[in-house]
Amino acid sequence: MPSDHTSEPQGAPLDLSTPPPRIGMVSLGCPKALVNSERILSRLRAEGYEISPSYEGSDAVIVNTCGFLDSAKAESLETIGEALAENGRVIVTGCLGKDADAIRSAHPSVLAVTGPQQYEQVVAAVRDAAPRPHQPFVDLTPPPADIALAREGAVECHEVRLTPRHYAYVKISEGCNHKCRFCIIPSLRGPLSSRPAADVLREAERLVAAGVRELLVISQDTSAYGVDIGHEASPWRRRDSGETVDVPAHIVDLAAALGSVGGEASRPWVRLHYVYPYPHVDRLIPLMAEGLILPYLDMPLQHASASVLRAMRRPANQEKSLTRIEAWRRDVPDLALRSTFIVGFPGETDADFEELLQWLRAAKLDRVGCFKYEDVAGAAANELTDHVPEAVKQERWERFMAAAQEISAEKLAGMVGRTLPVIVDEIDEDGASCRSMRDAPEIDGSVFIDEGFETLAVGDVINVDIDEASEYDLWGKLA
Ligand code: SF4
Repeated sequence: MPSDHTSEPQGAPLDLSTPPPRIGMVSLGCPKALVNSERILSRLRAEGYEISPSYEGSDAVIVNTCGFLDSAKAESLETIGEALAENGRVIVTGCLGKDADAIRSAHPSVLAVTGPQQYEQVVAAVRDAAPRPHQPFVDLTPPPADIALAREGAVECHEVRLTPRHYAYVKISEGCNHKCRFCIIPSLRGPLSSRPAADVLREAERLVAAGVRELLVISQDTSAYGVDIGHEASPWRRRDSGETVDVPAHIVDLAAALGSVGGEASRPWVRLHYVYPYPHVDRLIPLMAEGLILPYLDMPLQHASASVLRAMRRPANQEKSLTRIEAWRRDVPDLALRSTFIVGFPGETDADFEELLQWLRAAKLDRVGCFKYEDVAGAAANELTDHVPEAVKQERWERFMAAAQEISAEKLAGMVGRTLPVIVDEIDEDGASCRSMRDAPEIDGSVFIDEGFETLAVGDVINVDIDEASEYDLWGKLA
């Protein structure tokens, strides 16, 4: 059928002689940046571009940068240099893109620089750098509804995924309303902007239908989801039953609905990241007890001393947190708590640090990450006096990590003799690398099986009898 949308004469043959341009992508930074990369690539693929896995043979390369810490900025600039040396035609986007002057002064030959979430501009820069030859059949086809909506910023659908097939990150909101002194995310990403719950759920249904077994919910502040849109409900027509339900844009409602996606037969694992300990987080615990979401909370606490938390201007503090954690564990004994901390924040005294160590030992967090404070260009904390000397930061970091390792080893030793459900991540000739419900991909531990794994497939969920533990990982046999 001819269309009003094409200028080709009717019946013009499809030009198969010119292959579509190939675009490479280097994606740096956090899972949120990875989701942005997936969206850009999906959009390009929908426009007829091919995605290239290497510099070689790419008509242009997009570098999606991270600009959070100075070390991440340095890595981004280095990667841009590498892409220029290897390919020469480089488009820069992402967080560091906000600082176009820094990029252009280090690398004057980049083709274009765009900031975070500037999908239109990235795609326009690709079109300029590597024009796509006219393809009548493709051009006759209107963009898929999801992509068109994404263009308006209303929905985040991404059909190209950069994660393995069995798990996927689902971004529920962008930006942040807080003003933590060490953080420049709000100035890079803007204020909180939440997706309607039904959009998130439709994306989750598509992912599960495509074989995803684990959904990793991410945002800058997952607990605040929906605050900006008054927690407004949106109608979700369930794929499995055809029933329509109104789902409020609130993390408790959304988490419960995500846990029910796919019906009984193919319910995914749902893992929540970046959950600040607001009071309503208590209401997520019953969803874990019911098995709707994983017994796992990634809760970036940053410190335990009230004065340091105040100096950091954190949105929620540790007040009563030990009591709450105890109550959560009473209801869900297998709850795994992950958190990240900063040591050496300006003004942190020996007493503050000792309080943090004591708190960690009392809370017995399962998984812990720790950063030594560093200045970030543009962050308010840089102006604080009383910066902690590097040697002191290093010493505190080492003591903190040693305590965390001791706790982790003790907890994992307690797993020996138990049978745990695990998801299979990778298989090679030596065995299968899996994860329990306590382990998020990339950041937590693994469960290894080195016998009887030949019949397994990536993405399988199986039971394993645990027979050995180290500080961070477990080993076992098929149950
Ligand atoms: S809550 Fe604080 S640390 Fe987290 S993104 Fe917002 S401002 Fe940054």
